[in-house]
Amino acid sequence: MKQQPRFDIDLDKHYNATLVVACDECGHETRLHLKNLTPDRAHRCQCGSTIAMSPGALLQAERQVNAIKAAYRVR
Ligand SMILES: [Zn+2]
Repeated sequence: MKQQPRFDIDLDKHYNATLVVACDECGHETRLHLKNLTPDRAHRCQCGSTIAMSPGALLQAERQVNAIKAAYRVR
């Protein structure tokens, strides 16, 4: 089973969520806008390896975003 990408979540001042995904191969961080993400669609890192968020990982990311927004009392 392929390891899920590690990621952090950034919210900008408009509460748009950006996923900062660390590449397994080189550790380079790729920034992806959550609303533009499609499950299992591959993004290419600068080192040539691909980064893909599984539907489960995407769901987990959305839950984290919602939790952060709830903490800020935003909807
Ligand atoms: Zn890479």
